[in-house]
Amino acid sequence: MVRGSRRLLVKELHRDKPRGGAKVPGLRADSLRRGNLRRLVCEGTVRVWLKRDSGQYWPSIYHAMPSPCSCMSFNPETRRLSIGLDNGTISEFILSEDYNKMTPVKNYQAHQSRVTMILFVLELEWVLSTGQDKQFAWHCSESGQRLGGYRTSAVASGLQFDVETRHVFIGDHSGQVTILKLEQENCTLVTTFRGHTGGVTALCWDPVQRVLFSGSSDHSVIMWDIGGRKGTAIELQGHNDKVQALSYAQHTRQLISCGGDGGIVVWNMDVERQETPEWLDSDSCQKCDQPFFWNFKQMWDSKKIGLRQHHCRKCGKAVCGKCSSKRSSIPLMGFEFEVRVCDSCHEAITDEERAPTATFHDSKHNIVHVHFDATRGWLLTSGTDKVIKSIVIYALHSQCCYSHVLLRGESWKTISVDPPADFLTP
Ligand SMILES: [Zn+2]
Ligand SMILES: [Zn+2]
Repeated sequence: MVRGSRRLLVKELHRDKPRGGAKVPGLRADSLRRGNLRRLVCEGTVRVWLKRDSGQYWPSIYHAMPSPCSCMSFNPETRRLSIGLDNGTISEFILSEDYNKMTPVKNYQAHQSRVTMILFVLELEWVLSTGQDKQFAWHCSESGQRLGGYRTSAVASGLQFDVETRHVFIGDHSGQVTILKLEQENCTLVTTFRGHTGGVTALCWDPVQRVLFSGSSDHSVIMWDIGGRKGTAIELQGHNDKVQALSYAQHTRQLISCGGDGGIVVWNMDVERQETPEWLDSDSCQKCDQPFFWNFKQMWDSKKIGLRQHHCRKCGKAVCGKCSSKRSSIPLMGFEFEVRVCDSCHEAITDEERAPTATFHDSKHNIVHVHFDATRGWLLTSGTDKVIKSIVIYALHSQCCYSHVLLRGESWKTISVDPPADFLTP
């Protein structure tokens, strides 16, 4: 044991063969304090990685679990570690002050099958969880008693909670986000959000701006502006693959989204974004008036061949291919990649409007969980390759992710790449 070395990694790794898509167990390092960096390893084991005086990470705890671990929640104030297991149980531990020991506290028989998400709410002494059994449940962490439950429409893969108003957000594989109001022993359905064409894979709640972010297998992130009270939902398109993890840095107003292809997008949410327009319906091009192919009457009358219908992403007008031959990014509408726009919108978009509002990075692994410590610029990613990377982002709006720490099994490796000279160090 090395005293005085308080930096540690609690990390979670996955069982050998993740069972399909996004069902890989979670890294839920809740928050990083006093320079502590926590992660947990599970293959039916829990590992705590401690940064030693030498600067190297070594496991200080190696704890065998009765069933493979599927998710976790760590509360730094109480050093309480809640671990969800494949058999539906939630096991709770308290870590010792020096992080060299973990003491079992209690078990909750929370679900019939694998626990998919856990959230420990210190203020209310509640443990919230969702399971493969399509149940959302909450337990009292003092008495260990189940307080209530709710059946979700599909298996949940995103869980967030607003302590102040006691609203819980549950994102599921059907693409829906369910919002429930929790009381001590019952809950009421407030509303549901439907905006994704694929399953919801991750949720992130900002209690200050009162904004919910949902990531989906449809490659997009939607920002649901609840605090704005105008029903605004803004789409963010910056991934070429499933979005699998989200993290939000409140004080810098940056959203970090991670994709199945290893892409990390750091979104500047401190800009005024615009909603995308509704697509307009028309039987002929709203620019050149040529009929679309189903408009037989006009085709006959004007002796013209019908055209395919497209839509301008900026104005929403129904246009033909000829009138929308150009492409442009529209970052303030969330389109970081080039999309179809009509010719007049293309002319109207200024270079300023084309300035990117996000930066793009490649983590080179299939990220399933992410945690961002904005104060230090540290990004923790864990992937299906059973590697955990700690990536330092040198400047807040920088283009770079450098200096990686890789953790795999019981070994570690530091890869340092010097940042470009014009970048600030953290
Ligand atoms: Zn046209
Ligand atoms: Zn247009």
